[in-house]
Amino acid sequence: MTILEARDRIGGRAWTEERLGHTLEMGATWVHWMQPFIWTEITRYGQTIYPSPVADTAYWLSGGEVHQGTEAELDAKLERPQAKIFEGSRDFFPYPHEPLHILDSGDDALIERFRAADQGGVLDALRDGGFSQEEIDLADAYWSAGYNGYTATASPLMAKHWASLSDHRLGLLDEQTLRFKLHGGMRGIYEAIAADLRTDIRLSTVVTAVEHGAHGATVTLEDGSRIESDAVIVTAPLGALGNLSFSPALPEKAQAVIEEGWDCTGFKIWIKIRGHRSLIAYAPTGHPIALIRSEYFLDDDTTILVGFGPDHTKIDLKDRDSVEELIRQWVPDLEVVETTGHDWGADRWSGQTWATPRSGQFLEGWSLFRDTGTRLRFAGADWAKGWNGVVVDGAIETGITTARGLIEEFRATEEG
Ligand SMILES: Cc1cc2nc3c(=O)[nH]c(=O)nc-3n(C[C@H](O)[C@H](O)[C@H](O)COP(=O)(O)OP(=O)(O)OC[C@H]3O[C@@H](n4cnc5c(N)ncnc54)[C@H](O)[C@@H]3O)c2cc1C
Repeated sequence: MTILEARDRIGGRAWTEERLGHTLEMGATWVHWMQPFIWTEITRYGQTIYPSPVADTAYWLSGGEVHQGTEAELDAKLERPQAKIFEGSRDFFPYPHEPLHILDSGDDALIERFRAADQGGVLDALRDGGFSQEEIDLADAYWSAGYNGYTATASPLMAKHWASLSDHRLGLLDEQTLRFKLHGGMRGIYEAIAADLRTDIRLSTVVTAVEHGAHGATVTLEDGSRIESDAVIVTAPLGALGNLSFSPALPEKAQAVIEEGWDCTGFKIWIKIRGHRSLIAYAPTGHPIALIRSEYFLDDDTTILVGFGPDHTKIDLKDRDSVEELIRQWVPDLEVVETTGHDWGADRWSGQTWATPRSGQFLEGWSLFRDTGTRLRFAGADWAKGWNGVVVDGAIETGITTARGLIEEFRATEEG
């Protein structure tokens, strides 16, 4: 086995760095014991977790005004709209790790509802007149961060799937996506996995083409050299697949998804501010930053906030002044010391943050890459069944199932 990695480092979208005077995650941060595959690795490698802080004060923008309360009050306001957004999750996802199970149920009416729920935007359910603008704006901010993209184009099915993975409870969903992180960071996992490998990782090695057939596959590298093998597992995310040519070409539907991209056009930013400020803040579409939250209180009387927004082209992640202006929309006296982040959307080897489906892509998206009929396979979070796209858990899930599938195939060939 050979691992070919375009970057000069391992980890991909998990990347722990020392920045702003603290250990920070440029990509993946939060983990949970209800994400079974990452939890196995956390256990295997003796890693430990701790919680992100709960904020003292919550701010939210709605109707051009800043509202203020506690984090609990903010959560309470979200409950009613979120219950509506989650509607149908029990019917649609009886087995959350088999997200398309319903399509084989034979229940035509349910299948029709399921297909319809993949269309439109995630907030459409709130536009029946029964929800206030404040509720819509809060849900808009929450899901702009959650999809890390525009809510208007975000498939409503993903939110319902997340609910099913969280026992249909908003509190558990929040806990799974934004509460517990690793002492020492994600590198504790990816470095430990790399150290256990019984093969080399060839860094700064770019794959440009994959030829694939029923009995083997060949990759071509950027320097023109070729490597023949029994099988090739491509783990590049959708946003980086456009750099690769496949022969034979991928099915037209899959190519269309590559061209369209997922909904996750957003960003994550770290913002260091003066003073110890314990806050969480939400803003709806139209504001570049949808969500900020205090994460670390430093000894030099500064606080590091984490932030998310739907469009990486609407912000300069390292421009102190413009970011200060943006966060002062909530609290005018906040003073930014420094900011940092990695522009994953502009990164050739990712082209996106965590994969979230646009309208129609929950049914015609990730699943199109799961069966090629040849010795080309796709693995990675983008194609996972459980925590599809979103978390490291899905990357490990598909790593296991894809490798196992090939091992079984090789064994069957040997026996035959
Ligand atoms: C900002 C951000 C925040 C996130 N937050 C969380 C979180 O809190 N918790 C969580 O669990 N997950 C989170 N995620 C998601 C998580 O990081 C990903 O789901 C997971 O890391 C994906 O792993 P992967 O192996 O599928 O893909 P990647 O990690 O993207 O790995 C793919 C690898 O392929 C390489 N590659 C691409 N193209 C080529 C090529 N042509 N030739 C050779 N190599 C190539 C890339 O360099 C990369 O190393 C976050 C992601 C981002 C970006």
